[in-house]
Amino acid sequence: MQTKDYTENIVDVKKIVEEKKKELRKRIEKLKKKNIVPKLAVILANDLDSSRIYVNNKRKLCKELNVEEVEYILDNDIKTEKILEIIENLNNDPTIDGILVQLPIYKHLDKERILNSISYEKDVDGFHPLNLGKLLSNQDSMIACTPKGIEYIIDSLNLDLEGKLAVVVGRSVIVGRPISQILLNKNATIITCHSKTVDLKKYTKMADILVVAAGSPHLITKGMVKEGAVVIDVGINRKNKKILGDVDTNNVAKKAKYVTPVPGGVGLTTVTALIDNLVTIAERRLKK
Ligand code: NAD
Repeated sequence: MQTKDYTENIVDVKKIVEEKKKELRKRIEKLKKKNIVPKLAVILANDLDSSRIYVNNKRKLCKELNVEEVEYILDNDIKTEKILEIIENLNNDPTIDGILVQLPIYKHLDKERILNSISYEKDVDGFHPLNLGKLLSNQDSMIACTPKGIEYIIDSLNLDLEGKLAVVVGRSVIVGRPISQILLNKNATIITCHSKTVDLKKYTKMADILVVAAGSPHLITKGMVKEGAVVIDVGINRKNKKILGDVDTNNVAKKAKYVTPVPGGVGLTTVTALIDNLVTIAERRLKK
């Protein structure tokens, strides 16, 4: 008896990212001809290894794509006022296109004041309330990197979402809420589930497109997915030295049309989306 190979249902996100990088290289080259080199400022105000890894990944991609990056690595005695001063200077520096504060930050710091002090025009992370509000009003805005990366996947799969039911599991400001809004703007009908949702399976089973950003390893099993659904797994969970997504990928692939893997899925797209945002801001310098 022959067994069916379902791996073709697992999305090759690496290929999607490589295509995006090609596009970005062309845009960066075009800017260079006008003597513009996009420049990112990264503020790191925590001592977590994971954050250092994320900052390293950002630095590496900046180098690979020939954009400039400057880092502010701050000790744990740093005051909110001092960070506000750094951001104010960066806001006023015409050579800086994008500013990001790597989250989380030291607990004693006023996160809201710090994030809101970044000029919405240099907000490469898309966390500023003005950018979130613009997304809500379906206006051109800086979109947070993880939802933007999910959009790359949706677009490259040529999914027509009009009239489709999209279910999002998770309602965080950095993933769940913005991706729900993006899918709504693409004319899907949206259900956003969260930790207080009763009978999650009832909703996930109806989804034509299911985006899972809950932070709960293998929360979504084959029995919770509709035949032929598109499943995007955002989760990154460390368990027994392994990285697991929120979706039981191999089993769900037997039922879904597409499922994104973890690792090697949405996570690969986010830093590229960050540079995409940075380049978009730098391109505005051409119009000044
Ligand atoms: P969060 O903790 O801020 O939010 C999780 C959301 O999921 C909450 O709204 C919560 O209500 C909901 N939730 C949790 N358990 C649930 C359950 N059992 N049923 C229904 N809803 C549930 O997390 P976040 O920052 O949005 O991140 C979510 C996951 O995505 C995490 O694993 C995180 O590591 C990962 N993540 C990945 C990337 C990436 O680049 N791939 C980026 C950001 C976050």
